[in-house]
Amino acid sequence: MDSEKIFVTRSSMPSYEEYTEAIRPLWDSHWLTNMGQYHQELEQKLKEYLGVPELSLMVNGHMALELILQAMDFPEGAEVITTPFTFISSTHAIVRNHLTPVFCDVKPEDGTIDETKIETLITENTVAILPVHVYGNICNVEEIKRIADQYRLKVIYDAAHTFGMKYKGKGIGCYGDASVFSFHATKVFHTIEGGAVAFSDHKFFDKLYNLKNFGIRSEELVAEVGANAKMNEFCAVMGLCNLRHVEQAILRRKILCEEYETHLKRIRGIRLFERKPDVLQNYGYFPILVEEEYPLSRDELYQKLKEQGIYTRKYFYPLTSDQACFKNRYQDKKLTCARTLAEQVLVLPVYEELKKDEVTRIIKKIEIS
Ligand SMILES: *Cc1c(COP(=O)(O)O)cnc(C)c1O
Repeated sequence: MDSEKIFVTRSSMPSYEEYTEAIRPLWDSHWLTNMGQYHQELEQKLKEYLGVPELSLMVNGHMALELILQAMDFPEGAEVITTPFTFISSTHAIVRNHLTPVFCDVKPEDGTIDETKIETLITENTVAILPVHVYGNICNVEEIKRIADQYRLKVIYDAAHTFGMKYKGKGIGCYGDASVFSFHATKVFHTIEGGAVAFSDHKFFDKLYNLKNFGIRSEELVAEVGANAKMNEFCAVMGLCNLRHVEQAILRRKILCEEYETHLKRIRGIRLFERKPDVLQNYGYFPILVEEEYPLSRDELYQKLKEQGIYTRKYFYPLTSDQACFKNRYQDKKLTCARTLAEQVLVLPVYEELKKDEVTRIIKKIEIS
């Protein structure tokens, strides 16, 4: 039993029958991509499910981030204040748009951008803030809005971890000028690969529609330098199937996360992130922080669990600002808290089919280190 490997995540899937039945009409239509029937249907259903005013479906979360930044038409080299405690995609999207990332430190209690430090980083070249609701920990959206309004900055949330989440009764994608979701196979809800931008200003709908289709406006007019970021019909159908089961998947994750929490919060040296009140969670991740009072370092615990067949992940280590492609290219000082979190964090396995006794086994291994 103990030798069964447990990975950090495992994709939820509809039954084989449900999916194959749902893709059968594609053999009649032969319409496999280019904003087909299922693309439209999924876009509509997700807009409703996420409770957002507008939504544009994309081939993946990363292209969603790249294209919404492009759609905002910032001048080349302009500065975007962001967090280094995230998946590399957030920083890549800024740099690939020829913008300059300005890294802001994060808060120890939840790992989100430290809103009290944003204003000191604003210069005349700042055009936007790109915060991340990391692990589904919601940023201080009220204060970020206040700063953005005062300095006339755009706010683009990397909301890749917050599928279906609500804050103060509103879909999380309603905050900021835009929010980007990822529907990658490892996320709470997936379309194999996929993503979306949620926004309220309708003008972005047409802009994103064009940008994700090579900038083609009409048969003979290409007005922008676009990309190919269209979601294909097989992925859209996977999304439609998964959407039917996502509530159940989240409920299952909730039970597992609550089990972890009950036991792990009692262990000396293991710290859990704080969760804001008034948030409907999705239980996508279960990060722990291995602090000094714990008998092992984070790396030692990671190694020990690995030897027992339990594969955790050091998400998010190293900081994106410390990665070889960015190191020494941008301002990366004063990231004290982000660096500490990156060195202490370990994400434990959570997925729909993870069994409760597997969670118990993981807890036991952490308890007796
Ligand atoms: C998954 C993820 C992305 C990228 O999404 P893809 O759909 O894999 O392209 C971006 N940001 C964060 C924080 C993510 O976790």
